[in-house]
Amino acid sequence: MSNCIFCKIINGEIPSVKIYEDDRILAFLDISQATKGHTLVIPKEHVDNIFEVKEEVIAYLFSKVPYLAKTIKDAFNAEGLNILNNNGKVAGQSVFHFHVHLIPRYGSEDGYQPVLINHMDDYTKEDLEKIAEQIKTKL
Ligand code: AMP
Ligand code: ZN
Repeated sequence: MSNCIFCKIINGEIPSVKIYEDDRILAFLDISQATKGHTLVIPKEHVDNIFEVKEEVIAYLFSKVPYLAKTIKDAFNAEGLNILNNNGKVAGQSVFHFHVHLIPRYGSEDGYQPVLINHMDDYTKEDLEKIAEQIKTKL
């Protein structure tokens, strides 16, 4: 896509610091470096997000994620690593070319703070069953 910043990176029109590339995917350092080694993995075929990505494209991309994650973790002796993928503006997506963040973790104050707020007191077992039913009828 001509005005997509990540397509421009793939095409070499704007610079990036690459760590892995093959004919289908590219992994390069996120310019923001939430933590040291923060990497983005993208398909070379432009697709906006998870709602549009083809199964074989994401399957290939994710087949390389464990290897890349382990390599990044080992390179910096990280203690762990978060995988993040934002889809849609409301979910924090700012670049609309599908990408997976690999964020190595060094400690609780390393610069990345994923927060899952616990709302379990707001849902009964019946509520959960109803929610599951709503989803399953669409499968
Ligand atoms: P998201 O908010 O999930 O869409 O993530 C987009 C990410 O792309 C952000 O973490 C940005 O720091 C990163 N980013 C934007 N432009 C560039 C660039 N030119 N090179 C590397 N990373 C970039
Ligand atoms: Zn693109």
